[in-house]
Amino acid sequence: MASTIQALHNKLQNKEISCTDLVQQKLTQLKESNYNSETTILDEYALDLAKKVDSKIANGENIGLLEGIPFGVKDVYLLQGTYSSAGSDFLKKYKSPYTATAIQKLLDAGAIPVVKENCDSFGHGSSSENTVFGAVKNALDANKVAGGSSGGSAVNVAKDFTTFSIGGDTGGSIRQPAGYNKVYGLKPTYGRISRYGLMAYASSTDCVGPIAQSLEDIQLVLNVMSGKDYRDQTSYASKAISNETVTNTLPKGTKIGYYKNFIESDALAPSIKANFETMLATLKNEGMEIVPLDFFDGNMLVSTYYALAMAETASNLARLDGTNYGPRAEGNSLKEIYSVTRSENFTEETQRRIVGGNQVLSQGHSEEIYNKAQELRGQISHHFNENFKKVDIVLSPVTPNPVPEIGNNLKDPMTMYLSDAYTVGFSLGGLPTLTAPLALETGVQITAAKKQDAILFTCANFLKQVL
Ligand code: GLN
Repeated sequence: MASTIQALHNKLQNKEISCTDLVQQKLTQLKESNYNSETTILDEYALDLAKKVDSKIANGENIGLLEGIPFGVKDVYLLQGTYSSAGSDFLKKYKSPYTATAIQKLLDAGAIPVVKENCDSFGHGSSSENTVFGAVKNALDANKVAGGSSGGSAVNVAKDFTTFSIGGDTGGSIRQPAGYNKVYGLKPTYGRISRYGLMAYASSTDCVGPIAQSLEDIQLVLNVMSGKDYRDQTSYASKAISNETVTNTLPKGTKIGYYKNFIESDALAPSIKANFETMLATLKNEGMEIVPLDFFDGNMLVSTYYALAMAETASNLARLDGTNYGPRAEGNSLKEIYSVTRSENFTEETQRRIVGGNQVLSQGHSEEIYNKAQELRGQISHHFNENFKKVDIVLSPVTPNPVPEIGNNLKDPMTMYLSDAYTVGFSLGGLPTLTAPLALETGVQITAAKKQDAILFTCANFLKQVL
């Protein structure tokens, strides 16, 4: 599928559709939808911006490629003047005092935010059921989950309620819902896009990234959002990925790796395994060199990730205590105010993570758990460095299982954590990784070495042609 952004841009510029009509269409679709994909619909905000674009066009001016294009924003990003709920009761009435860098860059390019999108509270979840706005429904089957935590964003793109959406990915939250709703979702190299204005979940793996129906749109939006930002010292300067760098073919002999134990694991659904093996056979036929690799098993990756992610989120969410943000419960002492406010306003899943994270960090346990997880994270990164000396790309399933029914994850958090087995490792390594809605039921995950984001696009184009 070619760029929807480009097609809409042409229509706007040629006056085949007005920006106001385009935006209004999206707003109406969002209002009439039953998918629970939104937290706030930005009617006035969006229509105001649309009017400005229309008057520019009426004046005979040329507009930029992104100008007037409607997009969605996961509700963990600050957008000045709008509610930024993080899918929680705590911040349900919290208005953003400023705008996240990534979103500001899109605004500067003229794109129009039409909706703040429903998600798992503070990014905690793999299904978008851990939200006080109601479980998000899968775009292809409303009895199934949307995936998470950026479920609302993936559904909006899949249903065409937004032209693209900005998700957030800490351990798979862009890639997994993209796979569940059959759209593209990219987690770029850690630091390629500034995290300023993204509510912190696990700061050391949090990434901003686009979800869209085409690779062209992912590339375009990625380029606009990327870059060094002095307000996020982990961000770095990068070159835009140009159309000349991205091709449709991988040269014969390109080394494509896969993790043997991911594919041999009993936890992998037989249908996904079979499709993955067929995909490898096709690629071999196309002259690719398929390289089996050793790696840590899924359980170890999940344990390491959750130990660190819980520790980081417990620290990051300590600031939500009723004194600065959100509601404040009455109490006889400061301690009581804190504890009642936090118990009343965090969901059960978020409380589980805060309690778990504080345990991981507490005296007497931190050596055994936190330090050990850090040590393992070092080993994982080392492994990746060695792997990418041997291969150009690693392919893996996005998830071990097909899309679950709504309700299952809530009954069994452990199963939910294990469904992240194939995404969290790449997050710990800070690697660029893309979900392409191809070949496997929940999509194929394409991963490259740090800062090699460009090759993901070439590889995905290639897979699109041969699979
Ligand atoms: N499902 C993972 C978790 O709950 C990843 C979430 C995310 O990337 N925000 O931690």
